[in-house]
Amino acid sequence: MGNGRPRVVIIGGGFGGLFCARRFQNVDADVTLLDRAACHVFQPLLYQCATGTLSIGQISRSLREELADHRNVTTLLGEAIRLDAGARRVTARRPDETTFDLDYDYLVIAAGMCQSYFGKDEFATWAPGMKTLDDAITIRRRVFAAFEIAETLPPGPERDRWLTFAVTGAGPTGVELAGQIRELATRSLANEFHSIQPEEARVLLFDGGDRVLKSFAPALAERAQGILEKLGVEMHFGVHVTDVSRDGVTVTSKHSGASQDYPARTVLWTAGVEAVPFARHAAEMLGAQADRSGRIAVDADLSVPGHPEVFVIGDLAGRDELPGVAENAMQGGLHAAGCIRRDLDGDPRKPFRYRDLGSAAYISRGHAVLQAGPVKLCGRLGWLGWGFIHIAFLTGVRNRFSTVATWLAAIARSDRSDRTFILGGSGHPEDPYTWESVHQR
Ligand SMILES: Cc1cc2nc3c(=O)[nH]c(=O)nc-3n(C[C@H](O)[C@H](O)[C@H](O)COP(=O)(O)OP(=O)(O)OC[C@H]3O[C@@H](n4cnc5c(N)ncnc54)[C@H](O)[C@@H]3O)c2cc1C
Repeated sequence: MGNGRPRVVIIGGGFGGLFCARRFQNVDADVTLLDRAACHVFQPLLYQCATGTLSIGQISRSLREELADHRNVTTLLGEAIRLDAGARRVTARRPDETTFDLDYDYLVIAAGMCQSYFGKDEFATWAPGMKTLDDAITIRRRVFAAFEIAETLPPGPERDRWLTFAVTGAGPTGVELAGQIRELATRSLANEFHSIQPEEARVLLFDGGDRVLKSFAPALAERAQGILEKLGVEMHFGVHVTDVSRDGVTVTSKHSGASQDYPARTVLWTAGVEAVPFARHAAEMLGAQADRSGRIAVDADLSVPGHPEVFVIGDLAGRDELPGVAENAMQGGLHAAGCIRRDLDGDPRKPFRYRDLGSAAYISRGHAVLQAGPVKLCGRLGWLGWGFIHIAFLTGVRNRFSTVATWLAAIARSDRSDRTFILGGSGHPEDPYTWESVHQR
């Protein structure tokens, strides 16, 4: 303890880290919340930002602003890169690549997961994932620019390639993206172009399983599948995407082993997740077990075995098949903070008990699926339930008001108010787009 007050360092200001930090309000402890992006992102609505319905500001909030009332909580911008478990010190990197150290008495690791390409990281050049605001903006650029580029091309295979969108992974994110791109093509963009017919855009959805939304009840998944079919999404099950290039994807059947190429200039990847690099390093430094995806094994109170001062929460917590959902992260954050507070009060810790409050996925305008225990809703009721849940958990009153207003306008007019994309100027040709120069290298 530095000045006699315990120092709590929380790594990650996502659902887990933010809820943990909030719980320390007026507690006699110095809390530091470190995040590599300095803002809280409402990941469940990333796809709406990617497809032009919502703005960045509507789905995220500065952590500094969010925690301004918590006088004992300091928020810092930096990426945790090293852990010295013996010295109880975390080293963080600033965006300018310089570093600084943070000493702790308690450490809460809430750094979440990143996209996994199952060892084929080179796919990322052509197939952006969907985990961060940068990803959403990249996808927005690719999707809207694809229609623009197609408009300038004569009819033929190259134009068709630009009007074909391949989505890998039929979990909630893949389903939401696929549905939104078709909806964009058939409603929002339908009458805006002169040369192309946006509604002819093909959206291909690939998955290794035998249906969409594996984590939902089969009846709900079937309903979702029916809605996607009606919308015009072409679904391919029992296949793995085994190659991704500038020109499309190669897909291999799990059963026959036969491969097929699908030309598509826009490929989006939602197929898998793995622990962020810092979590793998932390597991090693703590001598903790980690599963194949990098989730760290934790005790019943969410602390790391042999390290009662270190908690792992949210998507990174590997125990009892805790699901990778926001609710688990929020409850874990509150629990870890509760344990630390009990320690400070001299009370025994309690085990973490996850309460499953259900899950929901948006399919298309007027359609969503929602399941919570025995309650299973789809269609308009599911849609209303979905809207209610998402508004309830959005951070900041301002975000809630403006999101509801934007949704109402989108329902009334089918337009998308945040379609602006920038081409970027990072100096990495693959960043702005899939330009020829990358192909020729
Ligand atoms: C597109 C998408 C849609 C989703 N939809 C739903 C849904 O509808 N319902 C639902 O319940 N769940 C949904 N989820 C899952 C849900 O968002 C996650 O389960 C939840 O965000 C996990 O919370 P977390 O705190 O563990 O991690 P995250 O929320 O991912 O937060 C991790 C934080 O750590 C920061 N960070 C990472 N590495 C470092 C580092 N080294 N140093 C410092 N900071 C770091 C990141 O910037 C981030 O802010 C969705 C996820 C995605 C990606």
